[in-house]
Amino acid sequence: MTPMVEATGIHKSFGRTEVLRGIDLVVEPGEVCCIIGPSGSGKSTLLRCVNHLERIDAGRMRVDGSLVGYRESGGKLHELRESEVARQRRDIGMVFQRFNLFPHMTAAENVMEAPRTVLGRSRSAARKEADALLDRVGLAARRDAYPGQLSGGQQQRVAIARALAMQPRLMLFDEPTSALDPELVGEVLDVMRGLAADGMTMLVVTHEMGFAREVGDSLVFMDEGVIVESGVPRDVLSAPRHERTRSFLSKVL
Ligand code: ADP
Ligand code: MG
Repeated sequence: MTPMVEATGIHKSFGRTEVLRGIDLVVEPGEVCCIIGPSGSGKSTLLRCVNHLERIDAGRMRVDGSLVGYRESGGKLHELRESEVARQRRDIGMVFQRFNLFPHMTAAENVMEAPRTVLGRSRSAARKEADALLDRVGLAARRDAYPGQLSGGQQQRVAIARALAMQPRLMLFDEPTSALDPELVGEVLDVMRGLAADGMTMLVVTHEMGFAREVGDSLVFMDEGVIVESGVPRDVLSAPRHERTRSFLSKVL
């Protein structure tokens, strides 16, 4: 089986700061891989490298077997044109800490936007798909609400529906519940749990250890730009092998 994500020897620096120092990571189709680690350890940068929002300095990033952002010929890498990168990104949904919905569009219009403009869907087809997706995230009744009329948890669920509208093969989540009031976290995690149960491949940066333990197939602990350890979530969380992991977990558990 071709891995959904195959990162090999990923290095990334900003100026003199080496933020990713040789990351190897494999995520299989249907797998939910959770990434934890202290602030500044490179988690967001790694996610952004998966869809070439950051250009890697060394290594290879493959999604579903294809190099991301590059074409390889004669052992050399040639960066793809922006339009070709955009084509690759269609298959990779991303949900951020901040929801970034279009404030002047309703929930349904937010979900319809990319299928309409990028895929050229008809208004009625996009509308039908948007309704089904909003139903899936439990927001069918709020389809005509504007983001400002929705709670943070509801906005984040619209953001998830919007990402799903492009029928991605892979979903990237970067601390999707970190900006939410505590009582709104559960509803977003429930939607993500449903996605996982439906077989979506997910790479999730999170501080929600309960989610990582129950929903994650694998758990990766990052620190200072390297993967310190990874494994079955329950094992990593209950019996970490490295002192750095132990020390981190003692602060967050
Ligand atoms: P995390 O998500 O684990 O908190 P990040 O990947 O956001 O970590 O950041 C890792 C390091 O890279 C931090 O020291 C951060 O300041 C730095 N960094 C991230 N993005 C940039 C950027 N665009 N320019 C310069 N430094 C950056
Ligand atoms: Mg981050």
